Amino acid sequence: MSTEIEKVKCLIIGSGPAGYTAAIYAARANMNPVLYQGTQPGGQLTTTNEVENFPGYPEGVTGPEMMIQLQSQAQRFDADVRDGWVTRVDFSGDVHKVWVNDTKEIHCETVIISTGASAKYLGLESEQKYLKLGGGVSACAVCDGFFYKGQEVVIVGAGDSACEEAHYLSKLCKKVTMLVRRDKFRASRIMEARVRNTDNIEILLNTQTVEVLGDGQVVTGVRVKHNDTKEEKDIPATGFFAAIGHKPNTDIFKDYLSLDETGYIINEPGTSKTNVAGVFVSGDAADHVYRQAVTAAGTGCMAALDAERYLAAKE
Ligand code: NDP
Repeated sequence: MSTEIEKVKCLIIGSGPAGYTAAIYAARANMNPVLYQGTQPGGQLTTTNEVENFPGYPEGVTGPEMMIQLQSQAQRFDADVRDGWVTRVDFSGDVHKVWVNDTKEIHCETVIISTGASAKYLGLESEQKYLKLGGGVSACAVCDGFFYKGQEVVIVGAGDSACEEAHYLSKLCKKVTMLVRRDKFRASRIMEARVRNTDNIEILLNTQTVEVLGDGQVVTGVRVKHNDTKEEKDIPATGFFAAIGHKPNTDIFKDYLSLDETGYIINEPGTSKTNVAGVFVSGDAADHVYRQAVTAAGTGCMAALDAERYLAAKE
């Protein structure tokens, strides 16, 4: 176990667009940022095939490629990008303590949390198989819906996200089948009404997903089962969207930071400030509404500027 304590001016936790953008700004402001990449270097975008809605890429770019470019941009200004997973923090004192891989201890003047959120999936073997293959499983209609233009897709979930995404998909796709596991929606009435009033959305209540069907490479349909009749049927589809919620990656901060009831970090409105001075948040860890790469990058910039101003005020 390492006993040497490292002192860092600006520690960034997480390596999605929020973390790398914070690193670019912090590095250019001479804050010598150290960024820990976490368990999924590059964040959620590395599970997306093509990113077509990030400004500045007229031809689109793959998620992993964009993250490599963001990383090199941060490193160009000498951001110290490291492998490692932050497992514990102590934000109770003036110096913010952070442990990496349960061993290395770092004392930080400022911390920028960019740990993101993870989309929830059903966890079916077939779903995970086509997700890994990039063959038609997604948890982000805004990111991937375009690839299913004119096609038939299935979406699972009955919350506001599922309704919003089903409605978004209905404008692109020939048909959207929505699988609702209970006999009612969780979504707000207005969102439910919107999907119910859309002609090319078919809602199957009391229905659960049995299996995502495919040809070994891409999705070809979804096998579903009615909860009461136990009747199974196959729905033809080229895309399967999971919209059953996200989990912000904030567990390690819960003893120190104010979180909302679903675990998102509460920031001071219009800023990246948390309830602990010197600790800032950017990206999906504090955002259950927009959840886009470009908004994450924007808040990464805000966090670095807020951290810089915090340090300047202390000097
Ligand atoms: P929610 O937790 O609100 O809804 C998740 C949905 O997924 C529920 O309908 C749930 O079913 C269903 N679900 C969960 N697990 C499974 C499963 N294994 N199989 C089938 N279905 C499953 O998550 P959301 O992402 O929709 O919303 C999160 C928060 O963000 C909410 O507060 C929401 O209001 C907010 N939001 C607001 C928006 C807006 O205002 N424009 C847009 C998007 C989100 P069940 O109901 O049976 O539990």
